[in-house]
Amino acid sequence: MLKFKSLGSGSSGNATLVEATAGPGSTPVRLLVDCGLGIRQLALRLGEAGLQIEDLDAVFITHEHGDHIGCARTVALRYRIPVWMSQGTHAAIGSADFEGLLRTACDGAAIDLGGLQLTPFAVPHDAREPLQLSCTDGAVKLGVLTDLGHATAHVMAHLQSCHALLLECNHDLELLAGSAYPDFLKRRVGGQHGHLSNIAAAEIARALQHAGLRHLVAAHLSAHNNRPELAQEALSQVTHFDKHLIGVADARTGTPWLQV
Ligand SMILES: [Zn+2]
Ligand SMILES: [Zn+2]
Repeated sequence: MLKFKSLGSGSSGNATLVEATAGPGSTPVRLLVDCGLGIRQLALRLGEAGLQIEDLDAVFITHEHGDHIGCARTVALRYRIPVWMSQGTHAAIGSADFEGLLRTACDGAAIDLGGLQLTPFAVPHDAREPLQLSCTDGAVKLGVLTDLGHATAHVMAHLQSCHALLLECNHDLELLAGSAYPDFLKRRVGGQHGHLSNIAAAEIARALQHAGLRHLVAAHLSAHNNRPELAQEALSQVTHFDKHLIGVADARTGTPWLQV
């Protein structure tokens, strides 16, 4: 069984729990995808999910931006939890010492956490070597796709046949254009290596949808340039999901546990 729960999503911090359980009575494998919170917030939000930091088996960091890497090193060193990231991400944080707990993730190279397999893939984003990933327990597949400027054939190939998709819906094009953001920031956010608009996300959802896609969750919404209902509207127009059945990962409360 595979389930996931966003602990919060957006430019103020991203963290998503993924848990795989082989069967009744077996020990779950728990992964935290991104650790972009302060350690107190992380502990608090894990507590709300019924867990503690020491319950995590591994952390996967998608890229070096502060809203993703957060307290990853502290978590690793204090709780002796291995942390996966690309070589480029590690270089971008000054090749920090992880005391043997650093694991290198590479585009296309599967990672076996024992009952939970990850496949990282490269995405276009303004970071050194950003990766997003799919997760599977061997039966069902979850796709995690935030922080990218545009979809590539590579990204789309990696996300075929997902049963659940956590998908960036960063901004509404009109809200971004009319926002108080300075022009350079508008260009950065809306650029090919920035973030996905609702329309761009909808195009991805349309291409990836199939009868077996059970959960579609909008993530990494801009607090200024988007609204949950706009993201839901955009995604529902091109998929089989009713607007109200499209999840939205809240900045502070994330999502409930969702079984894939
Ligand atoms: Zn981000
Ligand atoms: Zn980023």
